[in-house]
Amino acid sequence: MGRPHLLAVPYPAQGHVMPLMELAHNLVDHGFKITFVNTEFSHKRIMAALSNNGYDEDFIHLVSIPDGMEERDDRNDLGKLCDAMVNIMQGHLVNLIKKINGSNNVDDKITCVIADKNLGWVLEVAQRMSIRKAAVWPASAGFAAVALHIPKLIEDGIVGEDGSLLKNQMIHLSPTMPAMNTSHLVWLCMGNRGLQETIFKVMISNTRAVKLADYIICNSFYELEPSAFTLIPNFKPIGPLFASSRLAHFWPEDSTCLSWLDQQQAKSVIYVAFGSFTVLDTRQFEELALGLELCGHAFLWVVRPDFTCEGTDVYPEGFEARVCSRGRMVGWAPQRQVLAHPSIACFLSHCGWNSIMEGLSVGVPFLCWPYFADQLLNKSYICDVWKNGLGFDSDENGLISREEIKAKVVGLLGNEEIKGNALNLKEIALKNVSDGGASSRNFEDFVQWIKYEG
Ligand code: UDP
Repeated sequence: MGRPHLLAVPYPAQGHVMPLMELAHNLVDHGFKITFVNTEFSHKRIMAALSNNGYDEDFIHLVSIPDGMEERDDRNDLGKLCDAMVNIMQGHLVNLIKKINGSNNVDDKITCVIADKNLGWVLEVAQRMSIRKAAVWPASAGFAAVALHIPKLIEDGIVGEDGSLLKNQMIHLSPTMPAMNTSHLVWLCMGNRGLQETIFKVMISNTRAVKLADYIICNSFYELEPSAFTLIPNFKPIGPLFASSRLAHFWPEDSTCLSWLDQQQAKSVIYVAFGSFTVLDTRQFEELALGLELCGHAFLWVVRPDFTCEGTDVYPEGFEARVCSRGRMVGWAPQRQVLAHPSIACFLSHCGWNSIMEGLSVGVPFLCWPYFADQLLNKSYICDVWKNGLGFDSDENGLISREEIKAKVVGLLGNEEIKGNALNLKEIALKNVSDGGASSRNFEDFVQWIKYEG
């Protein structure tokens, strides 16, 4: 008998494709073969980022289907993207599965569909086609617990049926989870009211659909969020996942920064990266640049081509020349390798969940600069629960000033307790994924379930 065939479908965003691809590699190591379904838009970007190198992974087959939007449409219009996926991409997925399962080769038939939890409709497709299905939650268990708590928030009159905020108050889902201000609920910090309503609706329908999943796994580990896992015991943590695949990057990695890091002193460099979505306005971008300059430390700063609304050429006058001996800017970094480099002192991060898991598993302390969505909750975990980092405070104009940046860098690098906490978390993280660790056992159980049950 050949390798069991799995179909993996990520939500089409960098922070979702990456962990699912990592999972795909782990499953290949356990004897599976994977058809990995990107949208055509994501697929083109990944292929372009790979450039001439191509790929020679035997058991991961990259395929693509249309997301239902026009080429020129803005994929950051989440409402439009979600509608297009449900109305159009869904049909393409059904056809793809029919084509694969219609082949004469019995070994080729899909054993299980593995879908991002944010694509509830994929679980519904698998249900209708009588294929087993697993959901992957690429964020914290705490965030999942909040999402599953929505009906109670409505019942308690805290949010309306349309997701509008009725009561601005603190909520505390359980003792070791950070308290949350209801105005920070994920959909309420995303764009205008129309977009908030759309995201709220999508979250509700995904939360309903996830009940169809035969298995739910997530990129976390028990000790990190014990009480969140008590609230959602059917979510099985298998993390941290180590993002090292070349097959998932939306931008070409600039690996030259690794040799630059080789030339820096141990634990001397501030790594600055805001993930794949965050956009700063010109004023804040300039202030960040001047803050990095003011610190006097070496820094490696990821400035994506779309990091500011105005394009990348907005550095303060003379900045690049002044910092050239100790600062390096790249369009996209091999983040996993960067974080593991001995010269890294700390990670100034937007607190995306993947970035947190990656930084945490190499023991770097964090400087937190959350922007939206679950990043605010993630920041609270770091600053208030795990205590492996510090957050920035904005001034009365909503700006994080250069002085604040310098003060927090100095505060973090001089704080042995925070650095110690970061190193302890690394040990716990690594223990989880080593042989016999809880995440590793959960992953083995998942593999056994796909192979032998159902
Ligand atoms: N990343 C990378 N190079 C960069 C910046 C980010 O490879 O220069 C990767 C990072 O390792 C992580 C992902 O992009 O796996 C970003 O996911 P995250 O959840 O941190 O943030 P998001 O992009 O979803 O906001």
